[in-house]
Amino acid sequence: MKITRVETFLVPPRWLFCRVETDDGVVGWGEPVVEGRAEVVRAAVDVLAEYLIGKDPARIQDHWQVLSKGGFYRGGPVLSSAVAGLDQALWDIAGKAYGAPVHALLGGPVRERARVYAWVGGDEPSALAEQVAAQVDAGFTAVKMNAAGVTSPLTTLAETAAVVERVAVAREVLGAHRDVAVDFHGRLTPASARRVLPELAPLHPLFAEEPLLPDQARLLPGLVAASSVPLATGERLYGRADFLPALTAGIAVAQPDLSHAGGITEVLRIAALAETYGALLAPHCPLGPIALAASLQIAWVTPHFLIQEQSRGIHYNKEADLLSYVVDTEPFRFTDGHAHRTDRPGLGVEIDEAAVRAADRRGHAWRNPVWRQPDGSFAEW
Ligand SMILES: [Mg+2]
Repeated sequence: MKITRVETFLVPPRWLFCRVETDDGVVGWGEPVVEGRAEVVRAAVDVLAEYLIGKDPARIQDHWQVLSKGGFYRGGPVLSSAVAGLDQALWDIAGKAYGAPVHALLGGPVRERARVYAWVGGDEPSALAEQVAAQVDAGFTAVKMNAAGVTSPLTTLAETAAVVERVAVAREVLGAHRDVAVDFHGRLTPASARRVLPELAPLHPLFAEEPLLPDQARLLPGLVAASSVPLATGERLYGRADFLPALTAGIAVAQPDLSHAGGITEVLRIAALAETYGALLAPHCPLGPIALAASLQIAWVTPHFLIQEQSRGIHYNKEADLLSYVVDTEPFRFTDGHAHRTDRPGLGVEIDEAAVRAADRRGHAWRNPVWRQPDGSFAEW
């Protein structure tokens, strides 16, 4: 079997899909994207595709080496995300060619269902309570929320209290047997994080995500020691070597993104590395159905998997949502807060190619907002 064609599709709300075709007629799909920089990743996929044309798609490990390292310069969000999407597509092809789900090719499943969480936004506490209640009604046992908006360099007493109050509202609705995770998006300075996390500890969050920026991993040991709140990070880390400082620092939860961190091939290695540090795995995935299908393949084969992010109804999903481009929604039917394993071949997702091609003609130009402090200076989003 040989790869004959690689195409990319810029589809709303903010995604990029790739389609890898073979001379046997087997087609694999991947999702190579950096949110807000999709066009840049598309160009990177085009360059990497030059190498793949004419190659045997089954040599995934070798292709990963060449695509990741063969250009001399390596790593970073753009290249690692381009490799990630192509890697997903190659695993999809391998599964379809062998008539087996990817999890079977990886040694077989270790679980029947995978816990997933839902996003809640709601800047106002009353709206937040309603949104958490709606997710509980939908069967979810865990939600994730942003902790705060633009935050002062050193959080004021009011800002710290507002973070705690929002989480307290969610906790009140959830009760003691469900979970709330809190995403800081790197908006806190190290001193603010040391101030805020101990205040949150009594509310028992599942984890606090990106309390610091990813380039501040050297400061994580102090933050791990500062409170009992489990720390999570990883959506802006792109390979094993990027995760090592955070794991060494004692993070509780590693969050590689299947569409950023080199795909299934590299996330398996990150998972193995995390296991040696006693860290749990919770792949980042505010993305589309292919990225989620790839994430779930990891969930099926990873013993120390904790929970999976998924984007259904997330605030970014305007114009299209998780199910807009799939023929069969069954793999994404969540009951009792869990996704259920299927044994469909490949990644297990059937893409509506006509819908994807039509959406690509519309395209998108999604960009994240640029935030400012009240004095006009840049603020982390
Ligand atoms: Mg996050």
